Amino acid sequence: MRITVLAGGTGGAKFLLGLRDHLRDAFPDGRGGTTAEVTVVGNTGDDIQLYGLQICPDLDTLMYTLGGGISAERGWGREHETFVVKEELAAYGMPSTWFGLGDRDTATHLVRTEMLRAGYPLSAVTEALCARWEPGVRLLPMTDDRVETHVVVDGERPGTTRAIHFQEWWIRHRAALPAREFVLVGGADAAPGPGVVEAITDADVVVLPPSNPVVSVGTILQVPGIRDAVRAARGPVVGVSPILGGAPVHGMADACLPAIGVATTAAAVARHYGARPSGGLLDGWLVHDGSGGVAGDAAAVAELDAGGITTRAVPLLMSDPAASAALAAATLALAATLAPGPL
Ligand code: GDP
Ligand code: CA
Repeated sequence: MRITVLAGGTGGAKFLLGLRDHLRDAFPDGRGGTTAEVTVVGNTGDDIQLYGLQICPDLDTLMYTLGGGISAERGWGREHETFVVKEELAAYGMPSTWFGLGDRDTATHLVRTEMLRAGYPLSAVTEALCARWEPGVRLLPMTDDRVETHVVVDGERPGTTRAIHFQEWWIRHRAALPAREFVLVGGADAAPGPGVVEAITDADVVVLPPSNPVVSVGTILQVPGIRDAVRAARGPVVGVSPILGGAPVHGMADACLPAIGVATTAAAVARHYGARPSGGLLDGWLVHDGSGGVAGDAAAVAELDAGGITTRAVPLLMSDPAASAALAAATLALAATLAPGPL
């Protein structure tokens, strides 16, 4: 069983924790692990250079979460973190102290930057960092090329625009400046990282987890060759909605969808990805069933089914590890009904 997941940071990581738990139960290897192989294609559009350090927020969120080192309280960065360097930088009046540069976290950025300077590609660096964290999945950056998501916002004078780095928009401005456009700088010339295309085309199941459809999954799909690989995948492609009852679960994904002209609903996101038989990406789609006190989207099922995306309403809230594992099980169960042979 080979499963490939196209993931952003926190939503993707929570789903992957559940997937790993489910696979240990469903495909045990007799040693506490699983015989199933999970490959994660991670978003690097969030990457930023600060103080000479190459920082990969989504790859690190995936690595720390699956490796047991994430801060449970913050959902990003390291457990037991201190911020002495950040405070010292602020004391010097440095302008980018809005970024949460933790001391422990900085060691990761130092190792990454040193290895990149020595000539290793990001994929090899990520593998080396994962040797410490043992995430239990193969973590592949979507590309080894340097890419960065920038956000076009209104300029100071009426009728003008300016572009800022995604992290500045997301963290410093809390996504409050209306986003006119997202641009993946370097994206047109980027190539999929080693193994990425094969991991997608050869997988038994490809999953679009509940990651941000614009600046996580959307960014990965912008790397030339990756969308075609998903279209050409031999296994079914199944997605999980990050939008429940018209709103994201946490975070500010609703600040991104308007910029690409997509409504903040589970159905609109599914139609944006599109049905595979008609040139899109999805064979299957999971929407929320209305459990857990959060409004659901069961009303959209019939219409999406008719449009060629087999849709099921199940609990989509990953409120604890058991709920995440159940969601992963539901995702694979839907995939099994769509697969050409037994999974
Ligand atoms: P980021 O890179 O940290 O922004 O993380 P992702 O792009 O991987 O995921 C962000 C998305 O996760 C948001 O759009 C949330 O709506 C979604 N999300 C967070 N928690 C849950 C949950 O419990 N269930 C579902 N279905 N989506 C969630
Ligand atoms: Ca992210």
